[in-house]
Amino acid sequence: MAFENLIGNEKNKELLKVAVKDHNLVHSYLFTGPEGIGKDLFAKEFAQMILCAGDEKPCHICKSCIEFLGESHPDFMIIKPEDGKTIKIDQVRFMQEKIAEKPVTSEKKVYILSQSETMTREAANSLLKTLEEPPEYAVIILTTSNESKLLTTIKSRCIKIHFTPIPDEKILEYLKQHHLDSEITTNMIKQAGGSLGKLLKMTEEKEQYLGIENLLKQIETQTITQVWSQAEVLYQAKDSIISLLEYMVIVFDQELRKKDNLCYANAITIIEQAKQRILANANYDMTIDDLLLKLWEEMH
Ligand SMILES: [Zn+2]
Repeated sequence: MAFENLIGNEKNKELLKVAVKDHNLVHSYLFTGPEGIGKDLFAKEFAQMILCAGDEKPCHICKSCIEFLGESHPDFMIIKPEDGKTIKIDQVRFMQEKIAEKPVTSEKKVYILSQSETMTREAANSLLKTLEEPPEYAVIILTTSNESKLLTTIKSRCIKIHFTPIPDEKILEYLKQHHLDSEITTNMIKQAGGSLGKLLKMTEEKEQYLGIENLLKQIETQTITQVWSQAEVLYQAKDSIISLLEYMVIVFDQELRKKDNLCYANAITIIEQAKQRILANANYDMTIDDLLLKLWEEMH
């Protein structure tokens, strides 16, 4: 069954299924929506369906599906930012060389440009030529979580499909099915903002999030020295500090909803200020020292 392992965005599933079934495909699609909600997974499954030769697409047993699942399909390619930063013109040119050759296994050729907003200007201009005059068998799927960074001329060539965050209850259902619900707190689900990808990444760093939650719960009953001594998790988390600070905001926001006490609102302002200082490259340890001291004062 199509899209059986993907959660949410039911309307898009239907739309894409019908497009494949009715042979009503366009040459270029733009999958847009927040990070981590499965746009690339949708694009890949859509590609497999387009290329599949079976009746019930994707059938998983035809030559095309077997090649696709074995990551050796000659008519499929996924282009991602090189070194995680940008999609370069050489990558687009390579794709253009490939796309010019007739399909081998399937009737179509499908190309996914993941995080397409990272294309350099040269890469984007080069891609534009292909979007303007695509070979009749080509389907190009661009995915992006930052549509505003794409050239208008590119966007206007694509059929746009919006992906929306997955509702919390659907996420909970998924977590239960995969026996992950005990690993995750309600605040972590809130922080993920409907992004399953983000949430699953958070489970890998859950010790940090649980550590922070503990620290904040104890802040009211401890001395500042005790707080500092237990805040190693923050001092060590330089790489993920922005995400952790956002998590702290969520924790206090939940308290604020429960108790309606002004100190929680003030705490949120203090955390936001620390975030700004870190983004402005202020001294890291001093910013954390100061953050904890101000939070502690606010809570006492
Ligand atoms: Zn198949």
